[in-house]
Amino acid sequence: VWNFSAGPAAIPTAVLERAQRELLDWNGSGASVMELSHRGKRFIGLAEQAEADLRELLKIPADYAVLFLQGGATQHFAQIPLNLAGEGDSADYIVNGHWGEKAASEAASYVRVNVAASSRNEQYLRLPPRASWQLDPRAAYVHYTPNETIHGVEYHDVPEVGEVPLVADMSSNILAEPLDVSRFGLIYAGAQKNIGPSGLVVMIIRRDLLQRAARPMAKIFRYAEHAANDSMLNTPNTWGWYLAGLTFQWLKEQGGLEAMAHRNRDKAGLLYQAIDGSGGYYRNPIDPAARSRMNVPFTLHDSALDADFLKESEAAGLLALKGHKALGGMRASLYNAVPLEAVQVLVQFMRDFAARHG
Ligand code: PLP
Repeated sequence: VWNFSAGPAAIPTAVLERAQRELLDWNGSGASVMELSHRGKRFIGLAEQAEADLRELLKIPADYAVLFLQGGATQHFAQIPLNLAGEGDSADYIVNGHWGEKAASEAASYVRVNVAASSRNEQYLRLPPRASWQLDPRAAYVHYTPNETIHGVEYHDVPEVGEVPLVADMSSNILAEPLDVSRFGLIYAGAQKNIGPSGLVVMIIRRDLLQRAARPMAKIFRYAEHAANDSMLNTPNTWGWYLAGLTFQWLKEQGGLEAMAHRNRDKAGLLYQAIDGSGGYYRNPIDPAARSRMNVPFTLHDSALDADFLKESEAAGLLALKGHKALGGMRASLYNAVPLEAVQVLVQFMRDFAARHG
């Protein structure tokens, strides 16, 4: 089957096969990787290798810390303002979809949120252009969501925001292409789309920002404590860390992020072409300049056909094409683990369906 789930999403087959082979006896230990101490030499070696591979893939500069944290991106909607903003500070939020909206609303418990730009009134069908952002030079940081998983819009360039640290929720587009990490203050991503299983968050944070957290908070919330303890302040998600490491190795074997960027462009291009060339049978309403390469929502010309489309696609081995409940219709997520062949099969299915159902 081909899995188009938005998350938890497909993991590269080669990664799962390797994990299966190693499940009961990892690295000659005689035990599963899940059964080993995170403080042991073997696991520390794995953890260091995963970080080194991620640093190599994203060319992460030395003045950035990499953290492997428990939980999900939602937790960091709240924890980021705690760590980056002092009492009474404000932060700028760019709201270009569901997740940006949530990030801003969760942050409001800990920082004065200034919505510096929003495309809500346009149903998030386009992106607020950088020129329209009303940024405050005194803001503690600027937060945005480069790829909105539900609405299917994506910023294709990193916006210039001057001296204020740029914070990005890259849950659904991290590792999809090369990235200039030095343009960011903080990048975070829930793992369950392009990295591995849920329950793990990968964070890349400029080290000077670790010193910002001035207000009282428990150690477990403080990024500086996690960095000082190599993400082992408490027991990390060892299984997630292990699978993330296998995914990073797989990405290197695939030719790194340049190769992924090519593949992702081809995949998305093929699907958008099929939608746009369907004579209105299928529609994607997003401003073409803002279309996401990772998440492609689309509707059928008659929603009465939705149930048949889902039933028949599943029977054809095409999984999880049902759109998010907020938008209805369909959504195909094309993360790194989805090969071009999957999109070719999907596009052929869409043509056949249209021919069958008229
Ligand atoms: N941010 C984005 C862009 C997402 O796609 C998601 C979806 O899962 C989240 C945040 C929420 O992540 P989590 O469920 O890991 O908290």
